[in-house]
Amino acid sequence: MTTKVQQRRYGTMPDGRAIDEFTLSGDGAEVRVITYGGTITSIRVPDRKGQMSNVVLGFATLEGYLGAHPYFGVITGRFANRIAGGRFTLDSTEYTLAVNNGKNALHGGLKGFDKQVWTASVVENGVAMRYVSPAGEEGYPGTLDVTVIYRLTGESSLEIEYEAVTDAPTVLNLTNHSYFNLAGEGSGGIQDHLLMLDAQSYTPVDENQIPTGEVASVAGTPFDFRLAKPIGADLRSSDVQMLRGSGYDHNFILSGDLARLSGRLHEPLTGRVMEVYTSEPAVQLYTGNFLTGTLVGASGKTYRQGDGLCLETQHYPDAPHHAHFPSTILRPGETYNSKTIYHFMVD
Ligand code: BGC
Repeated sequence: MTTKVQQRRYGTMPDGRAIDEFTLSGDGAEVRVITYGGTITSIRVPDRKGQMSNVVLGFATLEGYLGAHPYFGVITGRFANRIAGGRFTLDSTEYTLAVNNGKNALHGGLKGFDKQVWTASVVENGVAMRYVSPAGEEGYPGTLDVTVIYRLTGESSLEIEYEAVTDAPTVLNLTNHSYFNLAGEGSGGIQDHLLMLDAQSYTPVDENQIPTGEVASVAGTPFDFRLAKPIGADLRSSDVQMLRGSGYDHNFILSGDLARLSGRLHEPLTGRVMEVYTSEPAVQLYTGNFLTGTLVGASGKTYRQGDGLCLETQHYPDAPHHAHFPSTILRPGETYNSKTIYHFMVD
């Protein structure tokens, strides 16, 4: 299969910079990505009758993405997830970060990678997005040169590859923050989606959603997705509802082996399936808990709690404060490389 890549003007930033959209079309899928935030705005895949639907939450126009929104489809960086207290120490120097989640830094801070304009170039089967983050941006040390490549390959596999180099020691944790709803964006809740995660353990968090440092077994808990079960099955258990009225927002530990199936999401009515493969050691399952009916999505429908779910492949949250978590440090001379594949099919 050869993927067709088309480019068009998507919109204009308030400061006049142009934002482009790239459409990747293959035999069984169509993916749209914009240069604002490197954001995936649409993934269209067929159901078992061949009916195409957009299976990610997002907006119809750039204006939606420029407004406040909970990271729909974006590249999160420099550090996906939370860093406690918005500070960390590396090589005996303490760095103070932009804080945007209580006392914590979340998803890169006040102006993370999700709010930057990326430079795009067409590559085989896809598009590469590049952003050079200046030293000190949002408090992070080192000039970080990041490239994220989106490719549509095979029948309908979306591959996202991340690369980065730095000129000074720093920390990073990159992911894509797409909210999936395999029944179609704007069609309702994801409680009946069946989810399998190849995770024996997870990292419990405190009331500020910061890992306690414990690595706990999922056995006998609502966090056990080793055999597929509906998202809604244990959603109302008090362990999941730790923040009142929320849902899953937890880091599950994976093998970190790109060749191994890490997760499988299945929507029984449409038959749509999404398999997840990743080189990352963990995934944050987030069930769209803080969607509150204030945002209107691409097809004109209002998004309510649980209308989409994220499977954010990543390193563990707050890794800079936990020496026994896989390291998120990048040093000059090293190349950060990470890959995640979302493979769509029907069952
Ligand atoms: C976090 C949530 C957060 C959401 C959107 C997720 O990755 O884990 O706590 O509310 O992103 O902002």
